[in-house]
Amino acid sequence: MTMRSLTPSQLIACATGCSDDHLIDIGRHRVHAQIADDFKALQQAAKKAGFSLAIASSFRDFNRQSAIWNAKFSGKRPVFNKQQVAIDLSTLTDIDKCHAILLYSALPGASRHHLGTDIDVYDEAAIAADYELQLNPHEYSETGPFALLTAWLDNNLKAYGFYRPYQDDLGGVSPEPWHISHIKQSQIMCSQITLEVIENQIKCSDLLGKEAIVKHLPTLFNRYVTNVAPMPI
Ligand SMILES: [Zn+2]
Repeated sequence: MTMRSLTPSQLIACATGCSDDHLIDIGRHRVHAQIADDFKALQQAAKKAGFSLAIASSFRDFNRQSAIWNAKFSGKRPVFNKQQVAIDLSTLTDIDKCHAILLYSALPGASRHHLGTDIDVYDEAAIAADYELQLNPHEYSETGPFALLTAWLDNNLKAYGFYRPYQDDLGGVSPEPWHISHIKQSQIMCSQITLEVIENQIKCSDLLGKEAIVKHLPTLFNRYVTNVAPMPI
């Protein structure tokens, strides 16, 4: 299905992780149909440069993101601070739990992984087969296994139509050098995600802490959803 055949309401459902009509398969993963060619071209160029650009994570639907959220909110899954130390959420208020989780995990409904245009990448050739991928800043730093890939992506992402929305610390989502986004298509998908759309979706959800989320939604939305690196020109 091409994006042109989606109605406005279907497009909103796609952008908020409630539909997979915008996706196609690429290997074992699914991505937005309109970015597959550009991603394959990026992979080919990376291959020529000696990398094996692999997908760690691409599309996640609303239910999957909600499960991650609820596992973190209830303490079943660790929540890390910027120093990569697991923190004790049990002493925090609901809104402070939200802030702690949002440093690394998106609000369900407003995750860029719903869009299909955003992919977490790593270099499969730089690690052993039994290496357990963490997706943490150290792995992508100058002393980590993906240092060379990071430098290559710095210089080549834009030419293939991609950029990093979480390149720098803007006081919201922590920097994620592994997370790349298709410039043009993510813009189209992001334009579907309004405060009103997300508020309605959160209200109808089973998310833990949803009263606190709804009460503080404008603040959370500005700090963690729209607060990303500017699109490259
Ligand atoms: Zn990501």
